[in-house]
Amino acid sequence: MNEREIRKVEIQAFIYSANPPTEEQKQQIQDFLESEFCSTVNVVWKKDAENGNGFRIEVGTSVYKWSLNGIYDWSIEGKRRQLKEKIHQAIAEKGNVMPLIKETLANWKPSPTFDSFGTVLTVGDGIATVTGLKSVAYGEILIFGSGVRGMVQELKQDSIGCILFGDDQDITEGSAVKSTGKVAGIPVGEEYIGRVIDALGTPIDGKGSIHAEGYYPIESPAPGIIDRQPVNKPMETGLLAIDSMFPIGRGQRELIIGDRQTGKTAIALDTILNQQGKDVICIYVAIGQKASSVAQLAQTLRRHHAMEYSIIVNASASDPAPLQYIAPYAGCALGEYFMHKGKDVLIVYDDLSKHAIAYRALSLLLERSPGREAYPGDVFYLHSRLLERSAHLSDALGGGSMTALPIVETQAGDVSAYIPTNIISITDGQIFLESDLFFAGQRPAVNVGLSVSRVGGAAQTKAMKSAAGAIRLNLAQYREMEVFTQFSSDLDNTTKRQLQFGQTLMQLLKQDQYHPYRQHEQVILLLTALSHTFQDVPPEEIPGIVRELLTSIQDTLPDICTEIDRSGTLSEENKQQILQNAKQYLENRKMQKSK
Ligand code: ATP
Ligand code: MG
Repeated sequence: MNEREIRKVEIQAFIYSANPPTEEQKQQIQDFLESEFCSTVNVVWKKDAENGNGFRIEVGTSVYKWSLNGIYDWSIEGKRRQLKEKIHQAIAEKGNVMPLIKETLANWKPSPTFDSFGTVLTVGDGIATVTGLKSVAYGEILIFGSGVRGMVQELKQDSIGCILFGDDQDITEGSAVKSTGKVAGIPVGEEYIGRVIDALGTPIDGKGSIHAEGYYPIESPAPGIIDRQPVNKPMETGLLAIDSMFPIGRGQRELIIGDRQTGKTAIALDTILNQQGKDVICIYVAIGQKASSVAQLAQTLRRHHAMEYSIIVNASASDPAPLQYIAPYAGCALGEYFMHKGKDVLIVYDDLSKHAIAYRALSLLLERSPGREAYPGDVFYLHSRLLERSAHLSDALGGGSMTALPIVETQAGDVSAYIPTNIISITDGQIFLESDLFFAGQRPAVNVGLSVSRVGGAAQTKAMKSAAGAIRLNLAQYREMEVFTQFSSDLDNTTKRQLQFGQTLMQLLKQDQYHPYRQHEQVILLLTALSHTFQDVPPEEIPGIVRELLTSIQDTLPDICTEIDRSGTLSEENKQQILQNAKQYLENRKMQKSK
């Protein structure tokens, strides 16, 4: 039952106006308030010369503070604001202005509005504590007197902790705060594609405003089990080292983890470039990075025509921690908009370590007790509720998907730190990048032993599956043998051959940045290498001949190449033809060399 109905206590209302109301007006106001509050109301008039012909009613008792501590506004200022809002709304809905203004003016009647105001207690470091606001919800947007917006992040008995999305310089102790009744969200729409925006959805690329088609809350529940279907379509990265051994499926969450400067961003970037013409929308969320790095990345995407299907959400290192905290959620909400439309989305969170640090800073300022490594207790939930929103939706819901590639930075390869272990356990696998490999020139520096993809295998095409065969096993054997034979000089022929085979595979997995392979190229390289066809070529020469080999086969067997890309299958006959052509190419090369 409504609490208002239970407690019928007489309450006091004050009418402020220049002239006293007539008995009839007073009775009308009393009737309105009594029906509004389900209680007996005692109306008292007070003089207020500033109100012109209008009036303002204030209602408030200590008993009813929770809901009645507000202002009913019929003053001139209040009427003006209402009329302005009404006209704005009409223009936004219909477009043609003059007849609309006439129509709106003719039909408009002022109605009472209810605003709830609070005051700022303290402000600093992007956080404000507010008192006096009633009935606000966690995650609700508050507007401060200076126009800055904030989000409710902490509800205490007598105050509210609020994170600020703008400059806190103009907010002073005692200034007014208004609640909006709206939870934090981001405007969404098709026009966002190709743009660089901040965490609140405002464009920051100087290309004008963006027309939004809707408003999505930044936090929303992840799809349930019934709403999902298994991951069964590949999300090709175009990187041989990943697609052959750790395939990623649409709707999967695959972590990219490694020390600083080991090529983490490069993998995500190549994956975005590889989505050209595949009808995938890519969202790159930059958290706590240098603005110059993000600008460079946008430039690279533009140069490769990848911005045509991409969106960059940027909360750089100089942005306030609250913006860095909400950036991945905002990107995710934008991704959900496209996913719900049945599209396939790829979202990169670069990186979640910096996100956790921003959240730690906020939580400590909000005086939440610190836990392990000073992170708040809910840092696991912070990331799990973000990553769980990636999904492959059921056909009934349109069959869209959102694949997440979160990135985490480790310190000196320590995967057992707090944030890495958390995110490893949330995701469906990880690509582990190693500095030693990176500096030895093995790029992408994927550590084959520590990387894994738990669901993508089901999404790999038949052609890739049959071509990749036992490459992981072969590389594992090679690594073991390499350690054993490191110090011995006298090796038998079989061991030497096996070592060379391993080295050939390692060389084959080297790949330049911005050169993703197409599916048939990966199939050709894997088939050739795993059938020992490269055995007469010194391993260090492999990277040099890869391009030529591919061009030669693409020229002689164009139909087979198209067939693999189109259907993802590889018949035994086609396989033999590819192998034969590869052998032929290598023999020709040998002959040319010996001349
Ligand atoms: P940070 O920790 O600073 O974010 P990161 O791990 O994201 O670094 P990147 O910025 O992707 O690393 O790469 C570091 C450097 O290595 C860059 O200059 C990049 O051009 C280079 N690099 C990455 N991958 C390759 C590659 N496959 N071939 C050649 N150079 C590469
Ligand atoms: Mg990076």
